[in-house]
Amino acid sequence: MDSAVSRIMKAKQYAAERDQRVKVHSFEVELHGDNANHIIGYADGDWRCDCEEATLRGVCAHIMAMEEILGDSVEPAMFATPH
Ligand SMILES: [Zn+2]
Repeated sequence: MDSAVSRIMKAKQYAAERDQRVKVHSFEVELHGDNANHIIGYADGDWRCDCEEATLRGVCAHIMAMEEILGDSVEPAMFATPH
């Protein structure tokens, strides 16, 4: 098989198996909320968001949205402690 083709197939396989293959260590994203934009950060299981709800509860709709997108490649935020 052509090496470029096999590389593409391998990439598709890794992407399809993302829950077993991928573990996120850290990232920072901007989420365009209905009222404002929010910066969500993640580092080694520790979630952060600049909104008021995250400050009070340690979790918010923005963090939950990122959990939904990233699936099992990140640690769940539900047990996070407020910062
Ligand atoms: Zn938030």
